[in-house]
Amino acid sequence: MYGDIPWEEKLSALSAVNRIRDEFAARGWFPATSGSLSVRVGGWAADRFAFAITAADETGWPELSEEPSHRAGVLFVDAAGEPCEPTRLKPSPDTPIHARIYRMTGCGAIIHVHTVYNNVVSEFFLSDGGIPLKGYELLKNLGIWETHPEIRVPILQNAAEFSAILKQIPGELDTRVPAFLLHNHGIYVWGSSVKEAKRHLEALEFMFEVLYRSLLLPSKGRYGE
Ligand SMILES: [Zn+2]
Repeated sequence: MYGDIPWEEKLSALSAVNRIRDEFAARGWFPATSGSLSVRVGGWAADRFAFAITAADETGWPELSEEPSHRAGVLFVDAAGEPCEPTRLKPSPDTPIHARIYRMTGCGAIIHVHTVYNNVVSEFFLSDGGIPLKGYELLKNLGIWETHPEIRVPILQNAAEFSAILKQIPGELDTRVPAFLLHNHGIYVWGSSVKEAKRHLEALEFMFEVLYRSLLLPSKGRYGE
């Protein structure tokens, strides 16, 4: 199956991963070279698909300043997370999480980043089990067009072992919410394409920042009206 995918499609996936990685690195969304990105190629069946994913730090993610050598740090893996062709690169350690999201959603791209705002809100709302996003205009960017939209972005417990994280991913995800957070760690966001996944991430990060800043405001009563 992987061999049947046109090279142009693979090339386009590689360049999409590199492009987004450069862009997000410039925004400071890959602190300490953390995070991972993937783009699916070819057809999809729940147990048969392939995707391009960033390589593990030690094999494929040298200093970002070493352009263009860091561009080599992307490889193709199958639904089991195994490389599709001979390579010295090792896939990002969180590849099983990407594979699980593809299996569950059939999406086209996944972005995992660590940001200050997603960390702060994940800590604040942990006991609520999710981040409440209510009434924001930017929920439209997630494809939610209701008049009084309200969603909850799930927060999973972080763990050193990816198997422990995988166990917490619910059997069925709310199809309106293309993301989940790991407590004090970061966010996984997906979309039908890189463009859509990026739009989802930008909308969510904007709403997390608004939520965080709103929580800092004093109650209105203190100042009278
Ligand atoms: Zn991470």
